[in-house]
Amino acid sequence: MADLNNSRPILATIHSDALRSNLARVRLATQTSGDALVWAVIKANAYGHGVGHVFEGLRGADGFACLDLTEAQAIRNMGWRGPVLLLEGAFNARDLEWCSRLNLWHVIHTEQQIDWLAAHKTNEPQRVFLKLNSGMNRLGFAPAQYRAAYVRLTALPQVAEVSHLTHFSDADNASAQGEAAVARQWQVFQSATEGLDGECSLGNSAATLRKANQSGDWVRAGVALYGAAPDYPTKTIDDWGLQPAMTLTSQIVSVQDIATGSAVGYGSTYIADHPMRIGTVACGYADGYPRHAGGNPSGAPVLVDGQRTRTLGRISMDMLAVDLTSLPNCGFGSRVTLWGHADPQDRKSAVLPIDQVAAAAGTISYELMCAVTPRVPFVVME
Ligand SMILES: *Cc1c(COP(=O)(O)O)cnc(C)c1O
Repeated sequence: MADLNNSRPILATIHSDALRSNLARVRLATQTSGDALVWAVIKANAYGHGVGHVFEGLRGADGFACLDLTEAQAIRNMGWRGPVLLLEGAFNARDLEWCSRLNLWHVIHTEQQIDWLAAHKTNEPQRVFLKLNSGMNRLGFAPAQYRAAYVRLTALPQVAEVSHLTHFSDADNASAQGEAAVARQWQVFQSATEGLDGECSLGNSAATLRKANQSGDWVRAGVALYGAAPDYPTKTIDDWGLQPAMTLTSQIVSVQDIATGSAVGYGSTYIADHPMRIGTVACGYADGYPRHAGGNPSGAPVLVDGQRTRTLGRISMDMLAVDLTSLPNCGFGSRVTLWGHADPQDRKSAVLPIDQVAAAAGTISYELMCAVTPRVPFVVME
């Protein structure tokens, strides 16, 4: 018998060209302030795209920033010899062995990590990024403790170089309150690091695109590289010149003609107020499509054969319903774009930004990208 070949039509396509183009866009943003180095952030398995799938598109970055050792090892196994940063540093003392073995740079955000480093036996001193808590109050040394931590680190034989790092909590927020928060954190960072040697890393995607001159020598770009607007809906990917790095497509597997008053899906939450044509799509929340989209009375946007329509009623585990009433040429087998390009093979085809789907589901693009589940097959377009 032939090998089993899964024929369910859902597919995630990764666009290497889009990753390259988005990386170039991030670089362009930093040019006004003298060409920062760019970390491509590949935590959460490259925001759900797959570390192995994005490596080709992002290998033009200056380094890769990871959450854990699995991602760091994956990027080394693909042959990357440049900088790799652990964004939260070591989670225990033994992680430092791996930092030595894989030649990783790592964040130091707490006193325990300095203790582990001081006890670490190595002939190769490590480069570390000392993290300041400049106001987000998640990780990092308080401003009053920062200098002491810096002095302690620079005195360690295990340390080759100390750089400075902090993270903005409100870089995506263009309101007066958001602007004030960034300005405050920037000022805290300036005071804490004043007179201390070392390169600086501040900006995420939003800060880099919006405030390159406050983003430091090393920017940490995540979501922009994957083709979402970090500050949606204030700005869109078109405004920023970004392109979707992932297209999620499937097909219509059933068509139903329904009369006025008929209900669609679990809970009968959608009732037709006119005769309708409904398409059932092979994509559900078990693929990572947001079930919350079904709670939105206007549904979530989708493209069917490149034409825009919307979901109807609740999202099922393996299926969702879309409105085909005004799309008479669409039917069984029609291609459905959940986000990304109408035709994943054609990057000039219409785009449904993931930001719009996320907004309809009451969340952000980041969560949708990360949520794509392992049962969805991936293909990389070079
Ligand atoms: C995730 C992360 C980033 C990247 O954020 P984006 O908004 O996706 O650009 C940068 N820095 C740190 C510390 C992060 O955890």
